[in-house]
Amino acid sequence: NLLLQGHVAFITGAGSGIGRASAIKLAENGAKIALVDLHPENCKEVKKLVEEKGSEALVLEANVSSSDEMKKCYDNVIEKWGRLDIVFANAGINGVVAPIEDLSPEDWDLTISNNLRSTFLTIKYAIPHMKDSGGSVIITSSINGNRKFTGFGMSAYSTSKIGQTGFGKMAALELARYGIRVNIICPGGIETHIGENTWHEKEELKKIKIPINYPEGNHPLGHQSGKPEQVADLVLFLSSKQSNHITGTEIYIDGAESLL
Ligand code: NAD
Repeated sequence: NLLLQGHVAFITGAGSGIGRASAIKLAENGAKIALVDLHPENCKEVKKLVEEKGSEALVLEANVSSSDEMKKCYDNVIEKWGRLDIVFANAGINGVVAPIEDLSPEDWDLTISNNLRSTFLTIKYAIPHMKDSGGSVIITSSINGNRKFTGFGMSAYSTSKIGQTGFGKMAALELARYGIRVNIICPGGIETHIGENTWHEKEELKKIKIPINYPEGNHPLGHQSGKPEQVADLVLFLSSKQSNHITGTEIYIDGAESLL
């Protein structure tokens, strides 16, 4: 029997990067996958790859910071498969990268809403569908804001990421009584498309020397960044019974980058 046979997973930001790799990995292990993304066109290929693994996928277009849209996504999943076992609150953006003095309140709100309000909504609306059967929730935070403050001009991002960790721990405590586990993953640099969702709006930023964490080729593990597939292996572990005594924990997946 496959590790996640018959389980249903709900993945936000499933069209790209970490979400995409995790969708394929969980499908390989038997789970049916709801692929949630603002850009559903990217999910079409992921759906095909999930089906090639012998599983099923449902593409759902939604903005994770919209209450109505998130609620509706879960209704669609329950209508199609009648259950919900795994929730991966993963969608996120870097947002506008700028020094605090140049960051507008709207820039701030965009990142906080996209990364933090979205995590609250994704978990809140999953609860009614998981409270009788239990399950696993995983949140993608970051080393940024938790153990390292690397991105100069990323105050809103770092705030959203440490906020996700705090929220995840409270959720773990509250939801333990339903048999729902909640864990937080904190990746270091991972090769994805997130850079395309970064808006270096402020010219001044280019003039400021952004601190470099480690010289080229001097990552503790001898390479520069991780791969989405490596994060997907952690997501699989946290999704499965193999981690059934782990909840309320943040796990760093950065090759010790944040310890330098
Ligand atoms: P990515 O840009 O490759 O993928 C993110 C996906 O999320 C995209 O498909 C995008 O369309 C979707 N998305 C963004 N905003 C959305 C919204 N409001 N509603 C619905 N979908 C939305 O990036 P990634 O690196 O795979 O990012 C996934 C998560 O990993 C993010 O939370 C990010 O902060 C976190 N993270 C990434 C890194 C890294 O180095 N790549 C490091 C630490 C943490």
